[in-house]
Amino acid sequence: MNIIWARSIVSVVLLAVLCAVVGALVNIKAALVLAIVMLLAQSTFSTFHKQRLWRLLDAPVYGEVPSAPGIWGEIYYRLHKLAKRWHAQVRQVEQQHSRFIQAIQASPNGVAMLDDHDQIEWCNAISESHFGLDAKRDLRQHITHLVRHPDFVRYLNSHRYEEMLIMRGMGDKRQNVLSVQVFPYGENRKLVLSQDITELERTDAMRRDFVANVSHELKTPLTVLSGFLETMRELPLSEAERSRYLELMEQQASRMRHIVSDLLVLAKLEGDNKPPSDQMIDMRAVLRHLRDDAQSLSSDHHRIVFDADEGLTVTGVETEILSALGNLVTNAIRYTPDGGAIKVHWHAQGGHAVFSVTDSGLGIPAADIPRLTERFYRVDRSRSRDTGGTGLGLAIVKHVLQRHDAQLDVKSEEGRGSTFTVRFPVYRTARRQPAPV
Ligand code: ADP
Repeated sequence: MNIIWARSIVSVVLLAVLCAVVGALVNIKAALVLAIVMLLAQSTFSTFHKQRLWRLLDAPVYGEVPSAPGIWGEIYYRLHKLAKRWHAQVRQVEQQHSRFIQAIQASPNGVAMLDDHDQIEWCNAISESHFGLDAKRDLRQHITHLVRHPDFVRYLNSHRYEEMLIMRGMGDKRQNVLSVQVFPYGENRKLVLSQDITELERTDAMRRDFVANVSHELKTPLTVLSGFLETMRELPLSEAERSRYLELMEQQASRMRHIVSDLLVLAKLEGDNKPPSDQMIDMRAVLRHLRDDAQSLSSDHHRIVFDADEGLTVTGVETEILSALGNLVTNAIRYTPDGGAIKVHWHAQGGHAVFSVTDSGLGIPAADIPRLTERFYRVDRSRSRDTGGTGLGLAIVKHVLQRHDAQLDVKSEEGRGSTFTVRFPVYRTARRQPAPV
């Protein structure tokens, strides 16, 4: 301000001195004309720059400083500096805002912001898909006009948001479950957070079913056992009867032992790391085991044929592969009446190692095939119990194969037999060098 005043005073004084000199040297008229011309020039000059300033304030240019002599140059320069600082600040705020939006978009949860009238101010893509919203189209729409689920409307209007709301029947297929919670903030605004808990609910239901199944499976032999114990304690039994009862009790105990041991195998499979993809298993040894076990289980009551490419192998965990393939072979024998045939096949097909067991046994109804690998699922309870099954064998097979990225395919015809085929991925299929002679 001081500089401006000083400069103005200096220019007025200079003009006055110039006019005085011209007045003294020429005449008063010339001095007057000079003063008028100078004042006109000054006023034109400042009008020009005022207009330029006006335009600049309307649409600031951040690139270059307009040049002008004297005080106007100074004004432009300072204004330019100010505009640049503002511009940088605005850009910083814009970047922060866009990073903030990106972070909320990246959130696995739905986030919707409502204004003080419960109208949608903003929502992320997850919230759009949870509630079937369109962030652009539905902007400023009252949320209950779009999310009409009665539970949600009631919850929002209740103004009691300490607990979350569970919304069922959501999504395109009306099969999803959402957990929703409202968090009030600012001036009567609300944040609606949503999470898809369909999978969580499903695994929770599966866990409950599983616990119920395990309890049921163990309860049956336990009840039988305690029944026998009571009989032995209360009734006078002959030696033959006593040994018969002890044998039956031993059967029930062994049944429970098998169930517990299969459950432990499953638990271990679920907790273990993925099998290595660079460790070749000794397939010759596995096939030998399978053949020996099959023969001892069948006790020559079946025709068993092994057709195997012994150089072919896969990578993974040998004990797991042996248990999975062993389960398929023993099932084939257990569910094939005496005199039937079992064929085991181990060959490469299109780069995949393929293992298959075909039996001429009882077969499986088509409706049961998709459920075979469920824990404790049996096609025929009495049939499975007769053969000492736990109902967990194919669940173990499924787990082992999943861990090795292999596929299980079941083809069966009731009364004619079944074929269980395992197809290993190409990246796990390998070939062993023949042993040096
Ligand atoms: P289990 O211990 O009862 O044999 P699994 O999980 O091994 O349990 O098999 C599940 C059910 O699938 C069995 O109860 C049986 O009914 C049926 N199943 C499995 N393999 C065969 C097969 N080769 N032939 C006929 N039925 C089979």
